[in-house]
Amino acid sequence: MTVEITALIDATVATVAAHADELTALDQAIGDGDHGINMQRGFDAIAAARDELGGMVPGVALQKAGMTLVMKVGGAAGPLYGSLFMAMGKALPEDPGMADLARALAEGVQAVKNRGRSDVGEKTLLDVLAPVSETCNGAVADAVGVGELLDRITATARSGLASTQPMRATKGRAAFLGERSIGHLDPGARSSCLLVEAVCRCFEADGHG
Ligand code: ADP
Ligand code: MG
Repeated sequence: MTVEITALIDATVATVAAHADELTALDQAIGDGDHGINMQRGFDAIAAARDELGGMVPGVALQKAGMTLVMKVGGAAGPLYGSLFMAMGKALPEDPGMADLARALAEGVQAVKNRGRSDVGEKTLLDVLAPVSETCNGAVADAVGVGELLDRITATARSGLASTQPMRATKGRAAFLGERSIGHLDPGARSSCLLVEAVCRCFEADGHG
């Protein structure tokens, strides 16, 4: 992997900051209106550890970032994203390639499912992350070029996000709204889509696109 950890941190921190109000507005519609604040608190803490994380191998840095999210973020999103990052980090070899990243993401998605006792179709961040993981595995199996892989991932993340709009939430705070959760995008799916897009842009900028 030639993309720098610090570049990934800068890109994800920037997208969370730029979209914090939007995430909060989405959470105001079907939750308690803190998703933007939660994400910003977590990613600000990751930003504060930027140089330390930048000196680690990717797997260790991801685990450390995941632990930071668990510790710093109240609410559902901290432990869920924390589980994602920690499981991904644990699965990564020292110098990961695309196939390793795809395998690690699959581990991360499974960890989110375990932690949230949730699955695809329940109007959560899994409706973005699980299809993105499947797309990664499929693209690696098809041995597509990295540019094509990134295009497929971005398209999958966006359609996964859109798929949450007509869903009725059955997990998290939005589930309390029942039928009234229908017609809104899920805030966690939106933050996942933003993070996926930011990571893809880093790989593109690296000349892999
Ligand atoms: P809280 O719900 O505690 O206020 P946030 O607002 O930060 O936490 O995060 C809400 C998001 O977390 C939801 O939009 C949803 O995507 C995700 N989420 C909540 N509960 C679960 C769960 N059990 N499994 C997967 N994702 C969940
Ligand atoms: Mg909330």
